[in-house]
Amino acid sequence: MACRAGMDILVLQDAGRPSSWLGKKEGFMAEELRGAPVAKKITSELAGRAEALKERGVTPTLAFVRVGERPDDLSYQHAAEKRCQKVGIETKLVELPAEASQEEIEEAISSLNSDDSVHGCLLFRPLPKAIDEARIASIMAPAKDVDGITPGSLYGVFAGEQQGFPPCTAAAVMALIDHYGIALEGARVTVVGRSLVVGRPLSMLLLARNATVTLCHSRTKDLFAATRQADIVVSAAGRAHMLTRDAFRPGQTVIDVGMNWSEAEGRFVGDVATDVICDIAEACTPVPGGVGSVTTAILAQHTIEAAERTLA
Ligand code: NAP
Repeated sequence: MACRAGMDILVLQDAGRPSSWLGKKEGFMAEELRGAPVAKKITSELAGRAEALKERGVTPTLAFVRVGERPDDLSYQHAAEKRCQKVGIETKLVELPAEASQEEIEEAISSLNSDDSVHGCLLFRPLPKAIDEARIASIMAPAKDVDGITPGSLYGVFAGEQQGFPPCTAAAVMALIDHYGIALEGARVTVVGRSLVVGRPLSMLLLARNATVTLCHSRTKDLFAATRQADIVVSAAGRAHMLTRDAFRPGQTVIDVGMNWSEAEGRFVGDVATDVICDIAEACTPVPGGVGSVTTAILAQHTIEAAERTLA
């Protein structure tokens, strides 16, 4: 079953692919759902808003709190710094060693809470195992919680209420879905991964848009049956190329949130073995170049909004 908006389906039918198409089509390539156009659309009006804030004496500022030097954190930080610079957001980095204590991390957050020049705070997660992440999330000032980690922000996402900001990656997946006109009403969406960073809040945002959501995790029995039955598969498991061709059937839309460092390939790869599904999927996101680029745009958008709220 095709799950794209009506206009796209017509285009595909014009291209000679019947909507009941069920097998591999020679020479067929899935539509690439690139993040760049989505990010461009989101950020196009942010520079003007940053300028307007500066004219009123507010320099929008985002602080990063990074514990240790995980490659995916560093990669996200650099991409976010670049994005912020482009739209006129100042950034500030609080770097702590991988062995930082609970108290040290809490102190760093508390100090940013009371720093009036900082409007948004991004804490890279997951934190080292010995750290009580929930406690740290609970002490962040809700107004600076641009990545939706505080209990109040999460309540808003789960209750379907506008309260604080949703987690950036979950919001980025929704922005990408909307940009490409992917219909959610009644669609079967399987989400792989139930973290509070991506899978769980994303499931709630999808549910709020009337999708029928199946949320999978490491204990899910017959994961591939769950992914095959979906119209849309979103993977956020953090396991390189875990979803092989057997996980899919023709005609699905596949959104790969995974960013997994591959020593063998010397680059980040997704959860989905995209190369082996591009002739059967209807559409899929590249890694890199998909969800990640939208996430930094959403982070910039949330930071500008947080700065604007200080003047409201
Ligand atoms: P996480 O906290 O490690 O959570 C991973 C989730 O995947 C868990 O719920 C886990 O299940 C599930 N999982 C792991 N192995 C599985 C398996 N074999 N089968 C089914 N489910 C499995 O990771 P995260 O922070 O959510 O991040 C997930 C991925 O997204 C990572 O690659 C990360 O780098 C990437 N990411 C990308 C962006 C972006 O903007 N592109 C942003 C954030 C994260 P259990 O709960 O049972 O353990």
